[in-house]
Amino acid sequence: MKIERLNVGWFTAAAGIFRAGDDMDRTIRYPVLAYVIETETERILIDTGLNPAAIADPAAYYDRPDVFAVSTPEQEQSVADQLDVGTLTKVVLTHLHWDHVGGLRLIPASVSVVIQRAEWEAGHDDAAVQRNFFLPRDYAEDSREVILIDGDHDLLGDGSIELMLTPGHTPGHQSVRVGDLVLGIDVAHFASGLDDHRFPVFADDHEQQGRSAERLRAMRDAGFTVIPGHDPDILHPGVVTA
Ligand SMILES: [Zn+2]
Repeated sequence: MKIERLNVGWFTAAAGIFRAGDDMDRTIRYPVLAYVIETETERILIDTGLNPAAIADPAAYYDRPDVFAVSTPEQEQSVADQLDVGTLTKVVLTHLHWDHVGGLRLIPASVSVVIQRAEWEAGHDDAAVQRNFFLPRDYAEDSREVILIDGDHDLLGDGSIELMLTPGHTPGHQSVRVGDLVLGIDVAHFASGLDDHRFPVFADDHEQQGRSAERLRAMRDAGFTVIPGHDPDILHPGVVTA
C-alpha cells in the first residue's frame, strides 16, 4: 500500500483565524493537500483540492465574498494535472470545505464518492451550509454516485483502510486510517492542535472537535502516526510513511 501526498495549492490567512489565540496581524500560508492511496486493485483519492476555474476568482465563482475576504487561495497544479484521474477507483471526501471538495468536478463522473451521511446532509441544509461556510457549487450539482456511510467504516472490507468519524470541525468530518498512519485532516490544522486544542475560531462544534482530537491524540500516544490538516512546517508533497 502506497500513500502519496499532493500539494494542490495554498491559502493565506491571519494566523489567529486558523489557530485560536494567535496573532491577527501576521499571516500564515497553509498548504492545500490531497492524498492518493494505492493498493493492488484500488487507486483512492482522499480529498480533491482546488478547481482552477474557481480559484481564478473565488469570491465571484462561489458568490460568497465573506469566505474569501479572510482567506486568499492560490492554485498549484490541480489533482488532474498531477494524476491520471481516469485511473481512480474511489474518491473519499473527508469533509465539504472548499479546499477539500473544490476539485471534485475534475474527476470523471464514473468515480463514486464516499462521505459521511452527516456531512452530506449538512451540505444540503441551508442553516448548516451557512454556519460551516460550505460552498455547494462544488458538490450540489454533481451527478456521480455518492456512497453515504454512518460512523467508522471499513472501506475495502479487509481492514486495511478505515474511515473514522471525527466530527466537530464540520458535522460529519472523517479521518482516514491506513495501517499505522492516520490522516487526521482538519481535526487539527497543526500537529500541536491534538494537545493544545487551539483550533480555528470557526467550527460546527468545538466541543465535539475537542473529543475528536482526544481520540486521535490517544491513537498517536499508542504509536500511530497522526497527520494534521494544514501544518505548513511538516506537510510536504511526496510519499508518506508511518
Ligand atoms: Zn482544510
